[in-house]
Amino acid sequence: MKENKNKCCELVHDQFGVGVHRCNKNAKVTVGGKHYCGIHDPAKKEARIKARNERWDAERRQYEEWCKREAETSRRAAIWPELVGLVELWKGWNEERQYSDPRPIRYAQMLEAILNKEQGNGKAE
Ligand SMILES: [Zn+2]
Repeated sequence: MKENKNKCCELVHDQFGVGVHRCNKNAKVTVGGKHYCGIHDPAKKEARIKARNERWDAERRQYEEWCKREAETSRRAAIWPELVGLVELWKGWNEERQYSDPRPIRYAQMLEAILNKEQGNGKAE
């Protein structure tokens, strides 16, 4: 059984992913009295898991950013008709009567600027 001592002790799945058996490759390192091959060296394995987790974290952050942008796009789309309605309303007011309060005119101008910019970005309706 001397030969067994120098084989990797890690349990691995078979090629179908259903069964489990010993790796049994020639051992390259010994950690805590156990033998491991180059692939299952605990230090290398830990480094691989760390790299994978970092990659997953980066992907999760990307996904969260994407969700935020989507939510913002939906939010804008939802208030869009209201914004257009407000601009029309304020323009109507300004045409009908002379306001001493200049704010509605300024708001209408600001909104129109925003609407024109968004239309320019192909986001209208
Ligand atoms: Zn191994």
